Amino acid sequence: MFMGHNAPPQVDERPRVPKYVEIAVPISLAGTFHYSVPDGLDIHPGSAVMAPFGPRRVTGYAVSFIGEEEVLRIMPARKVRSILGADKRNPGLPETMLPLAKWLAHECVAGLGETIETMIPAAVRRGVSEQEELWVSAAVPRSKLPELVPELARKARKQAAVVELLAESVDDALPLGVVARESGAGRASIKALAAKGVLQISRRPVDDPLMLAPPDTTPPPTLTGEQREALDRILAARARPGTAVLLEGITGSGKTEVYLRAIAEVVKSGRQAVVLVPEISLTPQTVERFRGRFSRIAVLHSQLTDGQRAAHYRAIREGLADVVVGARSAVFAPVPRLGIIVMDEEHENSYKEDTSPRYHARAVAIKRAELEGAVVVLGSATPSLESTSAALGGVYSYARLTTRPAGGALPAVEIVDMREETAASKRFVLISRRLARAASDALARGRQVLLFLNRRGFSTQLYCPVCGEVVSCNRCDIPMTYHKMRGKLLCHYCEHTEAPPADCPECSAKQLLYLGTGTERLEEEIAASLPEARIARLDSDVMRKRGAYFEVLSAFRSGGVNVLVGTQVIAKGLDVPGVSLVGVINADVALALGDFRAGERTAQLLCQVAGRAGRRTAEGRVIIQTMNPRNPAVLAAVRHAYHEYAAAEIEDRRQWGYPPATRIARILAQSEDHAAARAALDAIRDAILEQHRNIWEAGKSSFELAGPAPCVHEKVRGRFRFHLLVKSVDGNALPAALWEVSTRFRTKKGVHVTVDVDPQNML
Ligand SMILES: [Zn+2]
Ligand SMILES: [Zn+2]
Ligand SMILES: [Zn+2]
Repeated sequence: MFMGHNAPPQVDERPRVPKYVEIAVPISLAGTFHYSVPDGLDIHPGSAVMAPFGPRRVTGYAVSFIGEEEVLRIMPARKVRSILGADKRNPGLPETMLPLAKWLAHECVAGLGETIETMIPAAVRRGVSEQEELWVSAAVPRSKLPELVPELARKARKQAAVVELLAESVDDALPLGVVARESGAGRASIKALAAKGVLQISRRPVDDPLMLAPPDTTPPPTLTGEQREALDRILAARARPGTAVLLEGITGSGKTEVYLRAIAEVVKSGRQAVVLVPEISLTPQTVERFRGRFSRIAVLHSQLTDGQRAAHYRAIREGLADVVVGARSAVFAPVPRLGIIVMDEEHENSYKEDTSPRYHARAVAIKRAELEGAVVVLGSATPSLESTSAALGGVYSYARLTTRPAGGALPAVEIVDMREETAASKRFVLISRRLARAASDALARGRQVLLFLNRRGFSTQLYCPVCGEVVSCNRCDIPMTYHKMRGKLLCHYCEHTEAPPADCPECSAKQLLYLGTGTERLEEEIAASLPEARIARLDSDVMRKRGAYFEVLSAFRSGGVNVLVGTQVIAKGLDVPGVSLVGVINADVALALGDFRAGERTAQLLCQVAGRAGRRTAEGRVIIQTMNPRNPAVLAAVRHAYHEYAAAEIEDRRQWGYPPATRIARILAQSEDHAAARAALDAIRDAILEQHRNIWEAGKSSFELAGPAPCVHEKVRGRFRFHLLVKSVDGNALPAALWEVSTRFRTKKGVHVTVDVDPQNML
């Protein structure tokens, strides 16, 4: 798969194997532990080793060698346990990346061991084969699979999930690792089904279709003046390692071409590039664009099989890939000579990890570039306020692209005030007259239409007009969404499903109303009102079926589908030339979220959606339906003035003391016991106050505490949720202050405490 020489063997220049080593164990927040090294065992900082830990044996990571005196100061020699040997399956972390791991653990208030594990893909740590892997397919005719599900569901739910996954899959066979992960069933369930003769398991060589694609030979386009200037700025930044360049370019302005040129220069100088793309945009087309320019490409994303991931990872680590394209965790791709990290759509939420360590790939990229002598390019049409603020303040270098080289004009964006629309027609209106007319015009001219609604399901509320009851999830206190195709009420927080009740569960009234519109109902209404429409829908319900995302997109690209209805999954990077009309059904959904970023998110989403229209033609049109026609976030999209919006919003945040002017940490406590959750946070709050009492009394504290208070979603999965916000104008002081009270973050007495520094989700 990868041509070229093998990496030269590492020369160990240490005079002898040291006797003692400090090991990080992947147990939450645990510190590091001292062990002795058996004679003759060759380990390095970063190596994975097997070590006794209490009564167990665990994999740990060597982080540093330590002197005998230091160890003996802490404990007598006879008490020092010996590591058992190297973990031969697990390659560990390159020594050069340990400083990044230590920084990250500190910043996220996370254990060093779990942080190192996060930096190495699970398949690599398990040492899966790069040569061959197990695949699963049906042993009975595939059409028979659905019939087996109900029977299995009664006796073996996990086996039913496996059969359902295969029955719904676009492909006949799936890698065993993928089936296990996506069905949530263990390998045992899959093997049991094979023993019953329902499935068969076979060995196949690891292959990788992406790597075999023929390179594109079309010459690169000539850069515009703005692109040239942006490229120069990036190349100049190489003189100051750790510099970030914010590349703010309107949709269709050719940011990717700038990335490609910058990467080409870096590769020419013998260094490597890491390109981060949001998971949803990581399509074969995206990889193709890089594949066209560079021959040694590796990819890291969730669609890979375990064997493919292991093969790519090894190639990356050995320096055989010039360019790595991947999602969030590819920021840890262990290229040996990092030259540049490109982060496309840098404002995307998916760059934030939501389990510990809760890192943001942007912060990691910048720190890593600083440590390894590289530059970072942050690209977006709608950059985060954090990055915009840093660029305006001169912390980042700043380049802007304000025109579309392909000539497509920015679409005209119009607002329909839905309050007037509703008043005029004296009933609830889903699609305004103007949008309906525009859609039917576009279809008549053979164009395509994109309709965006950021709510999935059919009806978002089941409401009793007699007593006012809204049917909620009994575990979450959150309204259930009705999914018509599945015929079920579904909780979007815990995935709990139930049959919709015929009568009100509260007062037994018989006329429950299905209120609120999701993509499923929108699809149905469009079909009824636009007979010439060939409709498809794209949201996470559709995407539950493996392969459906690409299937729908290619039908839309080819023109077989002329109206695409979807949630935010269609807002991202979709570039279909035939689209002349984009309709935003309800711009107010994101505005209503109880989060200080609601405005920013709305402006980003609307500008991104608007950018899907008229990418190649002069006739793009965008219609936004809203009850808030004067909201600044909505107007930002109408006026194509995201930058001006962002600058004003940064000023607002400064006045209210929110990021990016300050840094926030969110400490979340969850428990089935309401009082215990709150009490845990009270104790943490008191501990922080006590720790800093002197400066607080002197009125010099850079900290501010808010809460504990119930979260917006007060109960999820049967657990009550409270949070405490710690705010600081001194960003560096925040993690340090949290570490001072970190012993209180351990889960005890049924209270689960988590810390999120720079949270993206405050609900
Ligand atoms: Zn009722
Ligand atoms: Zn629920
Ligand atoms: Zn302190």
